[in-house]
Amino acid sequence: MDSQLKPRILFTRDEIEAVVKRLAAEVSQDYQGKCPLLLGILKGSFVFMADLIRLLDFPLEVEFVKVSSYGRGRESSGKAKLVKGFSSPVKDRDVLIVEDILDTGLTTSVVSDYLREKKPASLKLCALTDKPSRRRIPVTADYLGFTLPDKFIVGYGLDWNQKFRNLPDICYLE
Ligand code: 5GP
Ligand code: MG
Repeated sequence: MDSQLKPRILFTRDEIEAVVKRLAAEVSQDYQGKCPLLLGILKGSFVFMADLIRLLDFPLEVEFVKVSSYGRGRESSGKAKLVKGFSSPVKDRDVLIVEDILDTGLTTSVVSDYLREKKPASLKLCALTDKPSRRRIPVTADYLGFTLPDKFIVGYGLDWNQKFRNLPDICYLE
């Protein structure tokens, strides 16, 4: 592993906090009075999920799925499959996917396909970050935090070979 890789801050913890607050306000407007199922995609979304749900003051449930994307480091192979599902009922529920980053769109499209088969009442996507220049499958977030340049980011739950998830800021590696 490249031990010389240095994380440089792209978005500070204060900027992240402000954006998560804004997203929570948008989500609250749409789901107030409902009891949505928030579905995080492991592992990267766990920090974002933890901060987001604590700003939502209505009943909700949380589940996680895991998608393997066959690849280490920066590049995925272009294939993805669901490797951990969940047992909570989805039929007729309002489901909100919570994702750390939209890159090619493959991961979220695998999760959306899995959910649509279960016939949710509604299905939306909340993504903390988006790299639109990298998209291969047309996916758009209903709630979006930051738009990113084409840089590999770490921190705030996101990893490089399983490291750097604990950085409180969103960083890129140089
Ligand atoms: P996609 O399937 O949209 O190509 O990629 C989504 C997944 O790839 C994300 O959930 C994340 O795990 C990983 N990913 C994509 N871009 C980055 C990045 O810049 N940094 C990190 N740490 N993970 C990324
Ligand atoms: Mg992820």
